[in-house]
Amino acid sequence: MKIYKFGGASISNLDRIKNTAEIIKETAGEKILIVISAMGKTTNALETVVHNFFDGKQELALQLFEGIKESHLNFAKFLTTLEGQATENQLKDFFTEIEWLLHDKPVRNYDYYYDQIVCCGELFSSSLLYHYLREEKLNATWVDVRDIIRTDNNFRDAGVDWIVTDNNIGEHLMPLFDKYNLVITQGFIGSTDENESTTLGREGSDYSAAIFANSLVADLVTIWKDVDAVKSADPKVFPDAVNLPALSYTEVIEMAYYGAQVIHPKTIKPLQNKNIPLLVKSFLNPLLPGTVISSKASRDLPPIIVIKPDQVLIQFKSKDFSFVEDKPVEDLQLIFDNVKLKPNLSQNTAISLLCSFDNREEKIDQLAVQASEIFDVELEKNLSLVTVRHYDNETIERLTKNKKVVLKQQTQVTIQLLMRDF
Ligand code: ASP
Ligand code: MG
Repeated sequence: MKIYKFGGASISNLDRIKNTAEIIKETAGEKILIVISAMGKTTNALETVVHNFFDGKQELALQLFEGIKESHLNFAKFLTTLEGQATENQLKDFFTEIEWLLHDKPVRNYDYYYDQIVCCGELFSSSLLYHYLREEKLNATWVDVRDIIRTDNNFRDAGVDWIVTDNNIGEHLMPLFDKYNLVITQGFIGSTDENESTTLGREGSDYSAAIFANSLVADLVTIWKDVDAVKSADPKVFPDAVNLPALSYTEVIEMAYYGAQVIHPKTIKPLQNKNIPLLVKSFLNPLLPGTVISSKASRDLPPIIVIKPDQVLIQFKSKDFSFVEDKPVEDLQLIFDNVKLKPNLSQNTAISLLCSFDNREEKIDQLAVQASEIFDVELEKNLSLVTVRHYDNETIERLTKNKKVVLKQQTQVTIQLLMRDF
């Protein structure tokens, strides 16, 4: 059993949907679970619907949703004939679910509505692909993942109930493979035991694929993306970035931790725990080897560069020249938890603590106000945090040229530089 996960870019237009179907056809008779994201930028568009709905702009929300509906119905028209009516019916059932909600006034919190509305992107895209595969005479079925992946009600970042989910997979999903070769389902979404829809966090479809892989003890997970492979740096910033043919789970976890947007950070653990390899491949060039991520130690890695732009450095200085020791640091930690901010880098001196954060203005302001009761607080904005794994001198020189390094942390493998432009 294998798992294929297709991201939004792989199904963003008609040609790409057809291309995805071609990749699926190549599996000829193998048992594949297919996990789908929403088409193209649908999730962003749905976020705008939620935003307006919650802002009391109901008309606008409905109008924006109308646009999303139409584009999906259009795709259905172009992709299906024999399956046409069935596709439309399935889509329209989902439309009704959402519109019913949009016609009401919000009485619960934002995150709840976010999940009830945004989850439909994956339901739409998976229905379209499913019916198109049937149109193409493939032996496929479709599953509403909300009947399988059970979560808590921490909307927008729901935690998976592994026991119930495992059970559902064994009881309701596995048997489908007796009859079908291809089972199509949605990434990113799940549901609570009260049948409320939930989402697993943006870009969470990779994680969904890993949940299924873990439970089914799959042979392999392939994530189909619009890049040739995982690269040593963002090629938009570093045109000489190279492809990385093989990476260990550890390397990928570290890269994700430092901010590399390779795969969703929660994806690796479920795979590592069952020793299931993950392949990142290009849907544009399926013949390219891509990147294999497995338990094998990565060797001969080039410097891998991860940049987190728009950082704020905050200096928390002891007010009365007393040492920054356990108690005040503990208090500060509580404030971090309270405003839900985590430093990306931190360093102690005798009487101060330096921390770098993503510049999320509202939270940074809250943090500064609360911390100023215990510390003198100084802020510096417009910094970039550059992390280099497997660094060498040449790379460091190149990265720091014409830059002022304000904070530096270094181990044998990793160097982190917080820098200001001159
Ligand atoms: N569609 C969701 C998003 O754009 C989930 C995903 O693509 O993984 O975040
Ligand atoms: Mg995506």
